[in-house]
Amino acid sequence: MPAGFPDFRLGSVLATSFTATLTERHGDAVERIPTPPRLVDWLAVNGLDVGSCTTAQLDLARELREAIHAAATATALQDTLPAPAVRVINECSARGRAAAVLTPEGERRWRVPGVEDALSVIAADAISIIAGERDGRFALCASPTCQAAFFDTSQSRTRRWCDMNTCGNRQKKARFNANHRKNPGSAR
Ligand SMILES: [Zn+2]
Repeated sequence: MPAGFPDFRLGSVLATSFTATLTERHGDAVERIPTPPRLVDWLAVNGLDVGSCTTAQLDLARELREAIHAAATATALQDTLPAPAVRVINECSARGRAAAVLTPEGERRWRVPGVEDALSVIAADAISIIAGERDGRFALCASPTCQAAFFDTSQSRTRRWCDMNTCGNRQKKARFNANHRKNPGSAR
């Protein structure tokens, strides 16, 4: 992996792994697909192998990403879905020529000739979770600088952070430090 680019945050849900390529939307935003080759890398890691990517395709990917994030946020807040976001998601979904392929081992692989085809798979994934077809619920990350929409598949549906290792840990540390300042020596 080339040095100097922020790591990917990978989750089990394709659409929200994709929206997590931009983090800290309400703080110092971190763009995790800053260049077309990085989008190709991200797609490959997620089983969507495309040969190459242009700047225009990267722009389209980011447009879809923000549309999914807007629609997912509205879903989490039980608001009306924003019409422009719905349009972008539907357009991306309709554009693709992706094929699901069953391997002899019984696994699913995607055959995606190009970036648009890969985006259609992501858009369709977003549609299925926003439409409530999968077990789970949308929630917003409790970190004030993040507020990322994530798909909570925990049994109790009480997950608070988009990512336990980053947002969750940071919040815990902040709380620990606050307590420590109040009661020095007691928090050890
Ligand atoms: Zn978060």
